[in-house]
Amino acid sequence: MTTPAHPSTYRDEFMQRALALSAQALDTPGTEPFGAVVVKDGRIVGEGFNHSVAHWDPTSHGETEAIRDACRRLQTVDLSGAELYSSCEPCALCVAAMHIAGIGRLYYAASLAQSGEAFEGVPASARHPIDVDVLRSEAGAPLQSRLMRAEQHADTAAVEILRRWAAARRSRGLEEKVAAAPVGRAQ
Ligand SMILES: [Zn+2]
Repeated sequence: MTTPAHPSTYRDEFMQRALALSAQALDTPGTEPFGAVVVKDGRIVGEGFNHSVAHWDPTSHGETEAIRDACRRLQTVDLSGAELYSSCEPCALCVAAMHIAGIGRLYYAASLAQSGEAFEGVPASARHPIDVDVLRSEAGAPLQSRLMRAEQHADTAAVEILRRWAAARRSRGLEEKVAAAPVGRAQ
């Protein structure tokens, strides 16, 4: 019998917390029943549930809220080594947010198909609908293949700002390297 390369570290108490957060939407106006927690080193470091209408923020999903909460609490934008527990399989927006934050492990309860079924017939006036399939293909598609129309303008000015920003960081990085070099071994 072989040991799996990445054995599960699933702990039900964390999923129960994600579910409890999602259930808060039952009594909280402007929210939706999607809850998530970020777990690091065996403890919850961030939690949230969908507040899209309550916060006038269409990117406020359970997962993004939990990631924002964890990053603010830990004062970092790098959640490497953290895990995410979600009451529902994340949409493409949240998968991207997890990647950006460096979260490499997901535990989820309802699948996207199951949540789609549960929400069938809910009018657009009652919740901001997401087409998870279109979102997935749009987010992954090259610029020219997206349904979203895009045009490039003013790239010279934009690139100039990028270069100035990068140049300042490069020289600052060099200064930091030199400052950190051991005495007697100047670069
Ligand atoms: Zn999402």
